[in-house]
Amino acid sequence: MPTYTVINPATEQPVRTVPSTSAAETDAAIERAAAAQVSWRATAPGERAALLRAFAAEVGAHIEELAALEVAGSGHPVGAARWEAGQVRDVLAYYAGAPERAFGRQIPVAGGLDVTFAEPLGVVGLIVPWNFPMPILSWGLAPALAAGNTVVAKPAEMTPLTAIRIGELALAAGLPEGVFQVLPGKGSVVGQRLVDHPLVRKIVFTGSTEVGQQVMRGCAAQIKRLTLELGGKSANIVFADADLEKAAATAPSAVFDNAGQDCCARSRILVQRSVLDRFMELLEPALNAVRVGDPASEDTVMGPLISSAHREHVASYVPDGAPVAIRGTAPDGPGWWYPPTVLAPVSATDRAWTEEIFGPVVTVSAFGDEAEAIAMANDSPYGLSGSIWTRDVGRAIRVARGVETGNLSVNSHSSVRYWTPFGGFKQSGLGRELGPDALDSFTDVKNVFIATEE
Ligand code: NDP
Repeated sequence: MPTYTVINPATEQPVRTVPSTSAAETDAAIERAAAAQVSWRATAPGERAALLRAFAAEVGAHIEELAALEVAGSGHPVGAARWEAGQVRDVLAYYAGAPERAFGRQIPVAGGLDVTFAEPLGVVGLIVPWNFPMPILSWGLAPALAAGNTVVAKPAEMTPLTAIRIGELALAAGLPEGVFQVLPGKGSVVGQRLVDHPLVRKIVFTGSTEVGQQVMRGCAAQIKRLTLELGGKSANIVFADADLEKAAATAPSAVFDNAGQDCCARSRILVQRSVLDRFMELLEPALNAVRVGDPASEDTVMGPLISSAHREHVASYVPDGAPVAIRGTAPDGPGWWYPPTVLAPVSATDRAWTEEIFGPVVTVSAFGDEAEAIAMANDSPYGLSGSIWTRDVGRAIRVARGVETGNLSVNSHSSVRYWTPFGGFKQSGLGRELGPDALDSFTDVKNVFIATEE
């Protein structure tokens, strides 16, 4: 079987060699998943729930190992990597409660009774990007399995290590063979086969808008169900009446977490003009406190970028002569490092304002009033995330309703909670993941009328 080597982005050294799955092997895995689904969907709800709880516990017992793999294979700071592994455990535990609560409805009709069933779809194909290999895997995996589907997952080519290990942990927890399989390899081979294979009944895709469009076209050929989680260009809106100290202190984490390789990154900071100078004064020490370095070190806040090519892409947003207002530091030598960088002022035609950067570069711009802040935040084909800082509750709600985006936080930079729905407006996506209704997108509703009249 052909193989390829995973590279440590902090050292540029090889970490491990993994198999590169072929199209024929992908087909074989899909067929195994379809065969396994027959008994998985028939497994009693309580037993399926118990297996998901056991899977969660198995992941929970391997947090350190998974975190170390993510440090080496993806360059994530160890504290963040532990949190990400913990999220896999928690998401599995949360959806372990679902099989026994997959209620249908009884609908009043004349001449009989009408009941509905939430039927699993079959095989679900999960296509995962490189930026959050563990959490994003779990968001599709857990509800899909809870609903009675089997799952074939394709991790990103560059970051397959934790997904492969989680696949092994599933088997160790007692999940039957074929219920959850992980196929490392190329998007153009494994991912494309998942999209094209008729036995795969749903695709959960997280990644770039360009590939998402291609996946959507592929799914259209078979009316295949599809969830898309795509790019973002989110605003962090700071009003003059806000707690400026807190807004500035948290602004770096809102954009530089995971070195900015985050679809929810608030990569545009919008500040009300009357407090712009004060905000910039407060932002500088907050940015300088972002410790960039060895991801294995406990006090590291920001690690390297994922690859040399990605670093070049990020650097292209800061050409010679770019308006760099604040710049942090990053290590020299091996590793794909890039310092946290603030650009201000930028024009509305600058690429740094219009495009998703997916790196540690943020723009700061001034606005006059509420209407202008909303218009600036909405000046994007994306609509995934965002934050609003104000002490005025009415304004917070008005602005939240005005900003065309799927996930907002007020006086906070948090983005994703697995028990609330997550997904994008506009070109940021289609459908919702997570939250109490996630099983709806992994089931089809069957309506059965039973005549009771003699
Ligand atoms: P890509 O779209 O390049 O890749 C995403 C996944 O799709 C990878 O596993 C990739 O495989 C696979 N893929 C590539 N080509 C195909 C194909 N023809 N058919 C099926 N699958 C394919 O995105 P990135 O990995 O570069 O991730 C970064 C992007 O993801 C950013 O734009 C970001 O905003 C977005 N994202 C969105 C999130 C959200 O929830 N909205 C969350 C995280 C990221 P391979 O690795 O082998 O190329």
